[in-house]
Formats: sequence, C-alpha cells, structure tokens
Amino acid sequence: MSKEQKYLYDREAKSGRVTLVGAGPGAVDLLTLRGQRALAAAEVVVYDDLANPALLEFAPETARRIYVGKRAGQHSQPQERITAILIEEARAGAHVVRLKGGDPLVFGRGGEEMQALAAAGIPYDVVPGVTAAIAAGAGTGIPLTHRDHASAVIFVTGHECAGKAAERPGVDWAALARTGATLCIYMGVRRLPEIAAALREGGLGGATPVAVVANASLPTQSVHLTTLQAAPAFSAVLQGQPSLIIVGEVVRWAELQNTMQSLQLAG
Ligand code: SAH
Repeated sequence: MSKEQKYLYDREAKSGRVTLVGAGPGAVDLLTLRGQRALAAAEVVVYDDLANPALLEFAPETARRIYVGKRAGQHSQPQERITAILIEEARAGAHVVRLKGGDPLVFGRGGEEMQALAAAGIPYDVVPGVTAAIAAGAGTGIPLTHRDHASAVIFVTGHECAGKAAERPGVDWAALARTGATLCIYMGVRRLPEIAAALREGGLGGATPVAVVANASLPTQSVHLTTLQAAPAFSAVLQGQPSLIIVGEVVRWAELQNTMQSLQLAG
C-alpha cells in the first residue's frame, strides 16, 4: 500500500461524525423514529439529565455511554468540556450521538455545539425533538395557538445566564406582554415572581391565566392552573423540577378539559 493509499484508508477509518438527537420531553415514546435509528447506529452516546436514561436502551450494548450531567450535587460538566468530548470521540472515528432533552436547538446549547463541530471540521447533523412547550400543550389540552385567541406563540427563557446582560439586553418582558402571544417560558420557575411582575408592568392583567406544567409527558407530570397574580406562589413549590410556564388566554382550555374530565367522572 502506497503512503498515499494508507493515508486515504486511515482517513476513511477515522471519518467520525456527530448527530445531535432531540430526546423529547421525557416519555420514551416521544423520541422520533429518526432519533431511534441514530441511537441504534451510535458507537458513543453523550447524554445528560434531561434525556430519559431509558432511551439509552436503543443504542447497541457495545456503544460507550458518556454521562455529562450533574449527579449527586455535582455541577454539570462545562459546555467546553462536552464539546471537547464530542470532537475527541468523532476524531477517533466514532459515530457519536449527542442526546439532548427536548429539541437540541431550543434552549439546548445545540447552536454552540454545532459551531464548535463546524470549526473542528467534523460533520454533524441534527434530529429534531418534541420540545417541552409542545409536550406541555399536549399534556394539558392547551392549544398554544387558537384562531380566536392567540395568533402567535413565543418560546422564551426565564433564566438569562450571568454575564450576558453586559453583552446584550435581557428579555424585554414588557414588549412580550404587548404581543398578545401565548408565552411559553422555559427555565422560569425560580424567577417566576420577577417575571410575573414584569409582565404585569408591561400591561398583562393579574387575572391572565397561567399554567405551570412540571415533568410534562412523564408519569410525574403535574399541572398547576393559576393566574399571573397568584403564579409566584408556585416558584418555591416547583423548584428543582423541569417546569414550563404557559401564559395567555389559551390556558383556559386546560380548565375546560379539567371541567369535562370532572363532569365525566361525576357522570
Ligand atoms: N431543549 C429543551 C429545553 C432545555 S432547557 C427542550 O427543547 O425542551 C430546560 C428547560 O426546559 C427546563 O428548565 C424546563 O423549563 C423545560 N423542560 C424540559 N423538559 C421539561 C418537561 N418534561 N416538562 C416541563 N418542562 C420541561
């Protein structure tokens, strides 16, 4: 084998790649078929806490599992470390699946991972997942849009990471309050009192319906129907559980569903 041939051979052997796979909101059967196929072809799976660990069973037994979440009070691995693992494993020739909760490109730092992979010259692709807001809507019977009540839906983070404020302004809650859109707030439970106050200052009434949905799609799902005025009370109760906050008139549909369920039970 000539030197050149050997080089080509080696290069082929080392053609690793990364697939960012959306794990969905928690329930195993909300993974897409494409995500399942990617897992079945994985040689290395990099996962953290938001992805249901039961999904790892779709990967071959021989696939290496690398956990990068926070366990037993430890901090999750810094993003740079996770990116370094993806690059290292792909460079070693592996097909790496990066399993991420919900959709990889919705508040999942998938954008940063793609940038780093592109910069390192590593091929990657993305398999979408059911994002938490969509699962929360389905799990509560709240239509996120409605012909008569909400023409838009906004996915927004309630948690702006430290240091970001200096680089760009944070979320303009008053502006969001004026849109009339359904607001789906990720990572907002801890700051719910401030968020509710900012939305009210922006013009939303205290009676605006709010749903806080914890553990959407899982057997532990809990739904708390409240108002903007009363919502801050749920901040302490739900801390530590992944929760999605839905604000808007469409939340009344959850009440309707509940009423119907209780009527059915009563009848
Ligand atoms: N990429 C994910 C979001 C990651 S940010 C997605 O597309 O869903 C983490 C936040 O997502 C949590 O703080 C919570 O607000 C929300 N979240 C994730 N899973 C959830 C679930 N099962 N139920 C409710 N909210 C969830």
